[in-house]
Amino acid sequence: MKYILIRDDDVNYFTKIDDLNRVYGFIFERNIPINFAIIPNIDASAKTISNNYPKNSYEPFIPKEFQGKENQFPIDENHKLVEFLKSLKNAEFLLHGFTHKSEVGRFEFEIEDENTIEEKLNKGSNIFEHSFEKKPETFVAPQDKFSQKSFFAIQKRFEIFSLGWIDKTRIPKSFLIKYYLMKLRNNNYIFKDNLLVLQHPGCQFSRFKDINKSSLILDKYINSHKITVIVVHNWEFFSGKNLNQELYTAFKNRILSLWRNENFKFINFSELNKIICK
Ligand SMILES: [Zn+2]
Repeated sequence: MKYILIRDDDVNYFTKIDDLNRVYGFIFERNIPINFAIIPNIDASAKTISNNYPKNSYEPFIPKEFQGKENQFPIDENHKLVEFLKSLKNAEFLLHGFTHKSEVGRFEFEIEDENTIEEKLNKGSNIFEHSFEKKPETFVAPQDKFSQKSFFAIQKRFEIFSLGWIDKTRIPKSFLIKYYLMKLRNNNYIFKDNLLVLQHPGCQFSRFKDINKSSLILDKYINSHKITVIVVHNWEFFSGKNLNQELYTAFKNRILSLWRNENFKFINFSELNKIICK
């Protein structure tokens, strides 16, 4: 059996229920397990450092009328959105940073100041808990980037750290043996000191990528791994108000074909502990 985890990133105060239904309605209807990485306290002045946007662009998932305002918007103040998310069967919620705002050229959790890291994790976890009545157990760093100081703080609080790739220069030295074993075995996770650190094959359902090339990358990855995290951003499926049909269709077809295949099982992050070899 192989396992698939859908990880949607960037749900925040501004996310529209209608947009989630348009992209993931087919998943909700079938109760397919899905995981949402939630930004607990989005800062409307957060900029994207992606090369796909002109320099100094604001994050595309912040509405134009709010972009640039130095205000933060806690997700628990959008009651309708939180209630909608909690009503979904088989949806699980992960903590995705705090404000998603980068500072002086560093992504939010690439910073080195331990007090700031602690404060962000405390406040983010509190908003998350207030919203979902549960402590977050999985952490997703904005842009999948982290400093070693953040790694230690994350390790103290979370059971799972879901990453793009495990950067051997940023993980603690004590993780290196397991890191090299992972490489040797062509595996995609490390379990050590009660923390599961898990890699994903990049965001392949992206409007910035060639769908056919992405599809081949995903085929290869899924074939050679027991666990695959499929990362998507709900906002990437839209150009203005219109759904990007090519991207949406590719995503929907892929998810449904895996779902119909009895060799695959969709799961939530909390189920990983039962599956991995420790
Ligand atoms: Zn993000």
